[in-house]
Amino acid sequence: MKKIGKTFIISGPSGVGKSTVLAALFKDREDLYFSVSATTRAPREGEIDGKDYHFIDAGEFRKMIGEDAFLEYAEYVGNFYGTPKKYVDEAMANGLDAILDIEIQGAAQVCAKRPETVRIFIAPPSWEELERRLTARGTDSPEKIQQRLLRAKVELDSARCYDYLVINDTVDEAVEELRAILRAEHCRPAERVSQLMD
Ligand code: ADP
Ligand code: 5GP
Repeated sequence: MKKIGKTFIISGPSGVGKSTVLAALFKDREDLYFSVSATTRAPREGEIDGKDYHFIDAGEFRKMIGEDAFLEYAEYVGNFYGTPKKYVDEAMANGLDAILDIEIQGAAQVCAKRPETVRIFIAPPSWEELERRLTARGTDSPEKIQQRLLRAKVELDSARCYDYLVINDTVDEAVEELRAILRAEHCRPAERVSQLMD
């Protein structure tokens, strides 16, 4: 039975552990495609251009908007982020699940265009722990950390509209829940029946 690729959005406050959990989820998974976003933000130490993000300047970002190259894009704490459409569509056409690590405004744009998209929100076990993780990561200034924490409250409120909420207390448990969600979403009758009819 040929697997049909689906799109999964992963959102959650900055510092909650999305990158950490996704890195663990992607281990030994040939059936998943990580959508590498374009951003105008500067690379953090250790981030690799083309793997973590496509790091581009504001002019290139505007050019891509003009070419309708983004599935969605948004501004987040002073920088632009966008999902290149082409690679997501190619991955899905090849039967891979596309995983998009994007914030809530972009998630709303994708779901308006493609309502079948599955939305998963990752929440912290507590606010104190979120602040601790953001600080411990050591990549943002105290001012940026405060902006990201303020934004986190708005984001958590919008989690109500998501399909699933995973609490990242331990990485192992969060990954286990993500795997279960991905698996269950491929057991939906609409997909299975059309596969059986082919
Ligand atoms: P995000 O991608 O959501 O911004 P990161 O994956 O960069 O977050 O994680 C932020 C910090 O929290 C990192 O230092 C990471 O090692 C740590 N972290 C992630 N998940 C956990 C967890 N379950 N328990 C403790 N620390 C965690
Ligand atoms: P960071 O700067 O911490 O890597 O990411 C900041 C926020 O931008 C996170 O919430 C992340 O999910 C989001 N983000 C990353 N790529 C994209 C994207 O392509 N589009 C949108 N809308 N948000 C993104």
